[in-house]
Amino acid sequence: MSDAKRPAGRRDARKQLEQEVLTEYPRLGPDDRFSFSCHPGISCFNCCCANINIFLSPYDVLRLKQRLGISSTEFLGRYAALPIQKDMRTPVVMLRMNDDERKTCPLLGENGCTVYSDRPWPCRMYPLGLAAQKDTPDGWRGERFYFLLKEEECKGFDEAHPWTVREWLDNQQVGPYDEWGEAFKELTLHKFFEDGGTLSPQKMHMFFTACYDLDRFREFVFGSTLLKRFEIDEDFVEEMRYDDEALLRFAFLWIRFSLFAEDTVRPKPEVVDAFKGNVDKGALFTRRAAETATEGTS
Ligand code: SF4
Ligand code: SF4
Repeated sequence: MSDAKRPAGRRDARKQLEQEVLTEYPRLGPDDRFSFSCHPGISCFNCCCANINIFLSPYDVLRLKQRLGISSTEFLGRYAALPIQKDMRTPVVMLRMNDDERKTCPLLGENGCTVYSDRPWPCRMYPLGLAAQKDTPDGWRGERFYFLLKEEECKGFDEAHPWTVREWLDNQQVGPYDEWGEAFKELTLHKFFEDGGTLSPQKMHMFFTACYDLDRFREFVFGSTLLKRFEIDEDFVEEMRYDDEALLRFAFLWIRFSLFAEDTVRPKPEVVDAFKGNVDKGALFTRRAAETATEGTS
């Protein structure tokens, strides 16, 4: 199920809610309708931008740090919470609420959201949630459907503005967020984890840096021997130097290569030759690359 915009302090009930959504909530498809409107004139305006769990994707962080004109490292230090849980397979990044009485979102201003056109995916989606049944062998490509999240205090449902699900998603410009979200799920729900694989603290750190701390990952890409050791298109290298989205694309490929031993980044022939004579060059190379990556991002 998606981690949609949801009041905090209900983590214990989360599994129960997930079960309810899967078994009881009406399922909405792209052409199903609902009525909703949120605008500055509504009596509850801004009241939902406090005391909530907002899980951030790598693309959310990319958009927010660009919007705020700060580095990813600064954004994470100022605005993110990194909860640690025992059974966590990959890092989790959340928007850190202010330490005031209401626990307001740090991005909320007097006139509403100060980063509105770059707000995170959960803020765009509300009042829609997205759920997927984990009933397929690969664990997540089961039926996906939308549902309505009706928070008690939200008066938006009393407004007579009709939408189809498709119209809402278009209006909220969810498209690129979904595309990046799908690519990210390929990492977080990778078969490696389904088969019982776990990441060491070092590899967890590498995963975090590559996905969320893009500016630090850029330092690693351009400040280490990585570009000398791998065949990467020169134009793409130049793009990565300045374009965060190109760099994030490479980060996902790098994780698949260095953590999951996929053939997504190709070592140069001379580098492969250097390992000739070893029992298992591929495995050795992958291990070395992962170690280097981990060292480089520490
Ligand atoms: S990011 Fe914007 S829309 Fe989302 S909770 Fe914060 S202020 Fe509200
Ligand atoms: S509670 Fe609902 S209607 Fe009110 S500001 Fe939040 S989303 Fe909009």
